[in-house]
Amino acid sequence: MSIAENLQNLKKELPGHVTLVAVSKTKPVSELMEAYEAGQRIFGENKIQEMTDKREQMPGDIEWHMIGHVQRNKVKYMAEYVSLIHGVDSLKLLKEIDKQAAKHQRVISCLLQVHIAEEDTKFGMSEEEAIALVGSRELEALEHVKVVGFMGMATFTEDEAQVKKEFQTLRALFDKVSREHPEIRILSMGMSGDYTTAIACGSTMVRIGSSIFGARNYHG
Ligand SMILES: *Cc1c(COP(=O)(O)O)cnc(C)c1O
Repeated sequence: MSIAENLQNLKKELPGHVTLVAVSKTKPVSELMEAYEAGQRIFGENKIQEMTDKREQMPGDIEWHMIGHVQRNKVKYMAEYVSLIHGVDSLKLLKEIDKQAAKHQRVISCLLQVHIAEEDTKFGMSEEEAIALVGSRELEALEHVKVVGFMGMATFTEDEAQVKKEFQTLRALFDKVSREHPEIRILSMGMSGDYTTAIACGSTMVRIGSSIFGARNYHG
């Protein structure tokens, strides 16, 4: 099936309150343009340089989301334009984002990545750290970043019960924190293999790559 058909089928499945981030990492601009022409306006990349290169070649009305692990020394390359940074896992990184956003008189929206998977290969803060950071004075002092939600990745497993348990954990955290902090309104969870489960568990934003663009040649 074509990229446009994949997108169309996916959109039919997604509830209206769930935002689709088309994860286009490793894919050429020509394929991103196919998605763009089919109406997609939000793209997710996991490398800052690749995202910046693609942005320069594509129309200006795209929202670019950084979904990968962020190296502090590269924040400056995306501060001018990035719409949402999903993988923020420390106050130190937030401070750098704040500093770079200030140079462009912007306020950059960020999600705190929370570690929910069993594997310890996945980045993220603990639930306790995330709770402590939201509403903290240190965060309030940063005028050019806004934490607007959480992101999580489930364990890569066929065990759906395990995946469900992890997504439910993050949803519970989201509910708890957003009650006191209404600015926490985005819950980014779900990829090609597990987005149905993620949505059932209350995801509001899914990051889908291979179900739209096909398999990637290398693991990104
Ligand atoms: C690559 C990636 C995705 C998309 O993965 P697919 O399985 O291709 O849908 C989602 N989130 C993150 C953080 C990724 O790195």
